[in-house]
Amino acid sequence: MEEDLKLRNAIKILNVLNEKGFEAYIVGGYVRDRLLGIESKDIDITTNALPSVVQELFPSNFSKSLKYQTVNVILDETEYEITTYRVDLSYKDHRHPESKVSSSLKSDLRRRDFTVNAMCMDKDQKIIDYVGGKEDLENKILRTVGIPRKRFSEDALRMFRAFRFASRLGFTIDSDTYEGIKKNASLIKYVSKERIKDELTGILIAPYLKDNLSLINDSGIFKLYPGLKAAFMVLERNYYPLDFLSLTALSSYLLGDLSEELLLSKKERKTVKDILHFIELFKEKKATPLSFIDFEYQPIEYAILIMKVLDMPIYDNTEIKQIYEDMPIKNMKDLSINGDDIKKYLQLSDSPLIKTYLNKAASLVIYDHIPNEKEILLEKLRES
Ligand code: ATP
Ligand code: MG
Repeated sequence: MEEDLKLRNAIKILNVLNEKGFEAYIVGGYVRDRLLGIESKDIDITTNALPSVVQELFPSNFSKSLKYQTVNVILDETEYEITTYRVDLSYKDHRHPESKVSSSLKSDLRRRDFTVNAMCMDKDQKIIDYVGGKEDLENKILRTVGIPRKRFSEDALRMFRAFRFASRLGFTIDSDTYEGIKKNASLIKYVSKERIKDELTGILIAPYLKDNLSLINDSGIFKLYPGLKAAFMVLERNYYPLDFLSLTALSSYLLGDLSEELLLSKKERKTVKDILHFIELFKEKKATPLSFIDFEYQPIEYAILIMKVLDMPIYDNTEIKQIYEDMPIKNMKDLSINGDDIKKYLQLSDSPLIKTYLNKAASLVIYDHIPNEKEILLEKLRES
């Protein structure tokens, strides 16, 4: 949605709440991104109105997650997450805060993770900042609200968030904040693999990741994840932007199967397997266009990329891509003949032999530019 409309709608929500006598502010990521002049995904609103009241005020369209005292109001297909002020009391397992509703904006802002994430904005777009967020934002510093050691121990996920925000925004992590991460790195064991995967996905696409790689690697957060650790060490030496899947393939190349460690879906596992297959073929210089048949281009491209990261470039992506694109058929099933045809017209019944003939047909089409037509191919196969 258009940025202005998004903000106007959020202000509408603030107005409705204000008119009923409640406090309400846009808070967190949106305020940060707006001050930085960058686009923001969604808008969070914080208010002293209770969720039941918010629901009554926006009866037409909401969904709620009462556990977090949150009501989602939808305007013009955008969701606005409206959360009642809260304060965190205790933290159960270094991950989930035990919180209760609060009547104070200040306490709501103080429970937030980083100073630049703890500012809010009223309906007139005036910024409210109790924690020095604006100054940190201007100096491009990522700093916890409150004592870093305590804040990371309360919720270990914040360590990954720190690296994600620093890498996304190009901020420097304040030295005490970084020390706090180092002290608590072992608590990463309390963060679920799903959340780590989400955070990593964000970290990997962040434009300033390169600047943070040595900090990430020295922090110890990958102690329990040897595969990630190995891959990040390689990236630190020779940075290329990888996504989660190519990073996983790199890890697996270095340390063997990591599908458990990295919680891969079946489809991701298959892609990783294909990538490793092509790395081996490329290493042995055994790849031919026929090796590409029945594969998407993605694993081939990833294999070339990972070899670059590992400083063993053999093929150039543009060249290989051209070869791939020039292949008149990409899949065996695109051949004008199939196993049954070979059985019938060439009187063959032995299935490995049928396979050999099919490969021969594919190679005639790909290498010898024989037209992919049934009669012609059968004729050529008879001759051979
Ligand atoms: P993004 O651009 O990734 O959405 P964001 O700052 O909006 O960044 P969210 O995860 O959407 O991050 O959370 C919204 C706000 O809630 C944050 O800005 C922060 O104030 C607070 N917050 C989120 N997660 C935590 C956490 N683990 N601990 C403390 N505060 C948090
Ligand atoms: Mg957000």
